[in-house]
Amino acid sequence: VTKIGVLTSGGDAPGMNAAVRAVVRTGIYHGLEVFGIIRGYSGMIDDDIIPMDSRSVANIIQRGGTILKTARCKEFFEHEGRKKAFENLKKKGIDGLVIIGGDGSFRGAQKFSNEFDIPCIGLPGTIDKDIAGTDFTIGFDTAVNTAVDAIDKIRDTADAHDRLFIVEVMGRDAGYIALHSGIATGAENILIPESKTDMEELVHSLTEKEKRKKLVNLVVVAEGDEFGGANEVAAVIKKRIPQADVRVCILGHIQRGGSPTCLDRLIASRMGYHAVECLLTGKHNVMVGIVNNNLYYTPLDNAIKAKQKISEEWLKIVKILAS
Ligand code: ATP
Repeated sequence: VTKIGVLTSGGDAPGMNAAVRAVVRTGIYHGLEVFGIIRGYSGMIDDDIIPMDSRSVANIIQRGGTILKTARCKEFFEHEGRKKAFENLKKKGIDGLVIIGGDGSFRGAQKFSNEFDIPCIGLPGTIDKDIAGTDFTIGFDTAVNTAVDAIDKIRDTADAHDRLFIVEVMGRDAGYIALHSGIATGAENILIPESKTDMEELVHSLTEKEKRKKLVNLVVVAEGDEFGGANEVAAVIKKRIPQADVRVCILGHIQRGGSPTCLDRLIASRMGYHAVECLLTGKHNVMVGIVNNNLYYTPLDNAIKAKQKISEEWLKIVKILAS
């Protein structure tokens, strides 16, 4: 490869900027020309592609969001759209791509490189941590720490009023933010899409705690849990325990923003560096992950299909520790 493109795609995640910086500077170090593609696959189709130099990524390692912008791009689902994208890359002589995004972005990359024979390297950039082949995804640590900070604050006010708070965190299909933030804030229970919740048991344990005046009760719910989020869970609980003072708090988009944590900056820098090394050593269509502190390459195909499993042991620990 001689000219590479880097883009961020799908949902934004804190730490994406640190990854872009690492790709740009590693590329330049190796004498490559590096291009930034604006708004993910849309920028490839619209020819919104700009040359990047070392200075263009100065002062961004600490910033949330993504300087390259991100988007969801309908046209990229169609062959015609991808063809247009390829022609724009060809015009500039771009012969390798680094895609920072989630599983949808990898699915697009996989199709694209099968059709047009351009090596694509994926970096897992998602706050959801729902990608196999890596212990970390860029943005998860920041998002989960933001959730922990917010839930700690809710706990203060819940304590002052003896309220039961049902807090909703992000995660339509994945419960990692809920699980980790719930454990770290001492939640009473955690409701996640990957696991069935025994509502009878939850109501029973809340009623029992109500009786013995356990002061703080927090239930953390992933937005994609089986009941459909915190409002729905609260409605069920209110009906079953009318005497409880139940409140709902939906954390929402604050979980996406903010300055990335040290961990997210580190993994983004390491993964970004290795993405360029992958292109230089002729690797095709792999995702760069980190497993047991070692680099781990997963064919984009597998990174897409496989889903990590959440250990039931954690859910058991949550209940025991909340007694
Ligand atoms: P997040 O996990 O944060 O949602 P993501 O990368 O999974 O991120 P998606 O919206 O699923 O986000 O995908 C991003 C973009 O990738 C899509 O808007 C589309 O342009 C492209 N893409 C996704 N799936 C495909 C596919 N099957 N074929 C072609 N392109 C795809």
